Amino acid sequence: LLPIGIGAAGVLAFVVAQLVRINGALPAALRVALKRGEFFLVYQPIVDLRTKEWVGAEALLRWRKSTGEFVSPDVFIPVAERNRLIERITQRVLELVASDAADLLRKRPDFHVAVNLSAQDICNPDICARLRAITTAMGINNQCIHIEATERVFLHAEQARKSVEALRAQGHLVAIDDFGTGYSSLSYLTEFTMDSLKIDKCFVGTIGQHAVTSHVIGHIIEMAKSLELKMIAEGIETEEQAEYLRAHGVQFGQGWLFSKPMPMHELVEQLASRRSP
Ligand code: C2E
Ligand code: CA
Ligand code: CA
Ligand code: CA
Repeated sequence: LLPIGIGAAGVLAFVVAQLVRINGALPAALRVALKRGEFFLVYQPIVDLRTKEWVGAEALLRWRKSTGEFVSPDVFIPVAERNRLIERITQRVLELVASDAADLLRKRPDFHVAVNLSAQDICNPDICARLRAITTAMGINNQCIHIEATERVFLHAEQARKSVEALRAQGHLVAIDDFGTGYSSLSYLTEFTMDSLKIDKCFVGTIGQHAVTSHVIGHIIEMAKSLELKMIAEGIETEEQAEYLRAHGVQFGQGWLFSKPMPMHELVEQLASRRSP
């Protein structure tokens, strides 16, 4: 509420304070969160749609404030990207992967952890060295760490192309994430060599819905095939969706039908029980 009778200067100060509160509170809280260690990772299995085998897991970031309140990455990642905090957050993600997953990946070199990188991370010329430092510390092959890059990366064509090439040369598989949800221009797909394409959950959700947009997923799948990209469908919630995707040649999937994201110790337990039933 605007206090009454404080004069123009007072009103201005009040407005500025409100703007700072709205735009400044979250970045400040993110800096505190980095210092206090309020971030942790959960891992969602990536499944071979034919065999139902768990072949890897995507690392997803969680922020629990000291008050116990959770903030969604869909809220804080864009803020971090706008405030030049994303590279520090990504560094924390890599450190968390190193401490969570070193044991598992040393024992299971056929398994992988997929890490989400923002455009600013990909375009940083140090990204390869940063990843190498992590895999070296973990004592694992670079192949065990996959990269997911949102299609926004391709707005920064030149540096992104160099980085993606270097990451692939270093042994990481690179997937394009959130494909078709925003900035897509098909031309970049032919200019970049990637390994796989993640089919966004907004398209998976249209399977069997008779929605006007439900034909789009068919086109995405055909395009991925013609570019010889592997496909990973996300947000699979029903058997019908899994069956459609499998029947159309999509190799991998993830979603609540198979498993929600979970802490590493749970993933390790579940992997062990799936091997020796
Ligand atoms: P994303 O990379 O597209 O991740 C997939 C999102 O779908 C995750 O949301 C996941 O929990 C959710 N999901 C998985 N299966 C299902 C399902 O069956 N149904 C539904 N409705 N949702 C499902 P989450 O964990 O909230 O992450 C949201 C976004 O935040 C991610 O989207 C990613 O863009 C970003 N993000 C998460 N962790 C990181 C990170 O470490 N670094 C960066 N740069 N971004 C991250
Ligand atoms: Ca992702
Ligand atoms: Ca996605
Ligand atoms: Ca997404």
